[in-house]
Amino acid sequence: MPTQSPFQIDIPATDLLTYLFPSSQPVSDTPIWIDADEPSHSLSPRSLLRWAKRLGSGLHNLGLKKQDVILVYTHNHIFVPVAYLGISGSGCIFSGCNPAYGIDETVYQIHNTEAKAILVEPPILKTLLKAASKANFPKNRIYLFSDKETGTIEGVHDWRSFLPTASQADFWTWESLDAQQSQNTVAALNYSSGTTGLPKGVMISHQNVIANVEQSIYMRDLEQRYKPNSRPQESWLGFLPLYHAYGQLWSIVAAARTLSPCYFMRSFNYVKFLENIQKHRITHIQTAPPVLVMLAKRPETAKYDLSSLQNILCGAAPLSKELQNEVSTKCDLKVVQTWGMTEVTCSCLHVPGGRDDRSGSVGYIDPNATIKLIDDEGKEVGPGDRGEIHVKGPNVCMGYWRNERATQDTFDEEGFLKTGDIAIKDENGWYWIVDRKKELIKVKGFQVAPAELEALLLEHEHVADAAVCALQLEHEELPRAYVVLKSEHKEASTEWDIERWMSDRVAKHKHLSGGVVFIEEVPKSPSGKIQRKVLREWAKEDVAGW
Ligand code: AMP
Repeated sequence: MPTQSPFQIDIPATDLLTYLFPSSQPVSDTPIWIDADEPSHSLSPRSLLRWAKRLGSGLHNLGLKKQDVILVYTHNHIFVPVAYLGISGSGCIFSGCNPAYGIDETVYQIHNTEAKAILVEPPILKTLLKAASKANFPKNRIYLFSDKETGTIEGVHDWRSFLPTASQADFWTWESLDAQQSQNTVAALNYSSGTTGLPKGVMISHQNVIANVEQSIYMRDLEQRYKPNSRPQESWLGFLPLYHAYGQLWSIVAAARTLSPCYFMRSFNYVKFLENIQKHRITHIQTAPPVLVMLAKRPETAKYDLSSLQNILCGAAPLSKELQNEVSTKCDLKVVQTWGMTEVTCSCLHVPGGRDDRSGSVGYIDPNATIKLIDDEGKEVGPGDRGEIHVKGPNVCMGYWRNERATQDTFDEEGFLKTGDIAIKDENGWYWIVDRKKELIKVKGFQVAPAELEALLLEHEHVADAAVCALQLEHEELPRAYVVLKSEHKEASTEWDIERWMSDRVAKHKHLSGGVVFIEEVPKSPSGKIQRKVLREWAKEDVAGW
C-alpha cells in the first residue's frame, strides 16, 4: 500500500496573486526583497504588488495572451519576484533561463519554450542578442530587465518602457482562478531532464506552487512549538538562483507568504555569503550540499560571526550524515534535509524544522502527498528495502511542456510520478535517499543531462560515439565522458582537446571536469540504448585513480 502523509492540510485553491494578496488582508509595507549589497534598495509586498500589476497590464498591452511564455534571462535581483508574480499573475508563464548559459543553450530554451517575449539583464544582452538572432527571435520582443533603469542599449528598450504608470495600473486586476483553473494554468516552466533525455519544460501550475509552499512551511514549522501564527521574525539569504524551482519557492513565494526579509545576492560567492550572514544577522538559509562542504572545510568560515544562524535547509543533492553532523556541530545549528525535484515543484520530503536530526534522513512525506517505493521488478517494497520513489500529490507537476510522450513515460499506470531516485524508509515513515537510477548528474546542485553532452560531443568532427556519466567523489559528482574517436582521427585529438572544446560551448557546471576517456566502443543494449550501469561501474573503478 502506498504511504500517505500522516499530515493533511488545507491548501488554498486559487491563483498565486490572490493567494499572496487576499483582498481581505492589508498588504505589508515592510521590506521583504532586499539587495544584500545595498539594503536601502528593497521592495515590500505593497511595492511588489504595484510593480506586478504594472507588468501584468503591460504584458496585456503588448498583446501577449494567456499561457504565452516569457523568458527571463538574468542573475538574481529584487525585481525578479516582480517578474515571477507579474508574469504568472497576467496569465502568462514565467520561464527562468540560467544566466551562465551560452548562445546554444539559450537558443534551445527559446525554441523549446516557444517564448513570446524575453526580459534580459544588460550584462548578458550580447549573448542573448546572438542567441535571439540564431533562433530567429524578433528583437522588438526583447526588453532590458534590471533593478535600475537602464535606458536603451543596442536598440533594446528598458522593460519599464511598456509599463503603464502605477496609477493607471491600479485599475488593472488579475483574473483570479478557481480550483480547477488553478490546477490547469501553468505559472512557471522550469527546466529539468527528468529521468532521461534532454532538458524539458516542467509545467508548474499555480496550484502546484501554492501547495508546495504550504507543505514546505508546514514541515518547517512542525515541532517548533510556536504558538499559532507567532513564528519569530527570521532573516533569509536569497542566493539560490531564481531560474530554479528551489530559489523561486523560498526566496519569492515563501518569503512573501511568511513575510520573511530575504537579502538577495546577485550570485553566489563564499566570502560574500559569510559577510552577508554576519552583516544582516541571517537566521535561516536554504541551500545545497556544496555550501555545507565550504562551511565545514574552508578556513574563512572561522573568521565570521555566524551566531545568528539557526537553521540550514539542505536539498538538491545527496548530503552525507558525516557532513551534516560536522556542520551542525561546528556552527551549532540544525541542518534539516529535504528531498525533491523540479517535477514536484521543489520538494516532497522534509525533516521537521524543529528536529535536530543527524541521521542523514530526508524526513517524512509532505502533507497531502503519497509515496510508494518500487523495486526493479515493479513491485512495491516495505520498510528497510530499496525502491524507486513514485509520488502523487498536489505539488506534482502537470507534465512536460508540449511533450506528451515524455509526460506519459514519466507517470506510472496509477498516476504516480516516477522520480528516478532510490530510497529506503523505516518503520516510522522516515526516508533516506540511497541511490539514483536515472541518468541525471548533479554538479553543485545543478542539473547536467548526459544526453545533452552526448549530443554535443557527436558534433565534434573527430568523435564517432560518446557516453557521459557521473564520476562520484566523496562530496560531489563530476561529468565524465567516454568517447570513441573516428578511426581516421585517432591520432588527431587528445582527451584534453575534447574537454576544452566542450568547455567553450556549455555553462561551467556542464564542463567535463570528471575527465574524458577514449574507448573502443560505447556499451549498448541490442536495441541501441547506452548501458548506463556499465558506465557507472567503469566510473567507480576510475575513482580509485582520481
Ligand atoms: P532538481 O530537479 O534540479 O531539483 O534535481 C532533483 C534531483 O536532485 C533529485 O531527483 C535527486 O536526484 C537530487 N536530490 C534532490 N534532493 C536530494 C537529497 N536530499 N538527497 C539526494 N539527492 C537529492
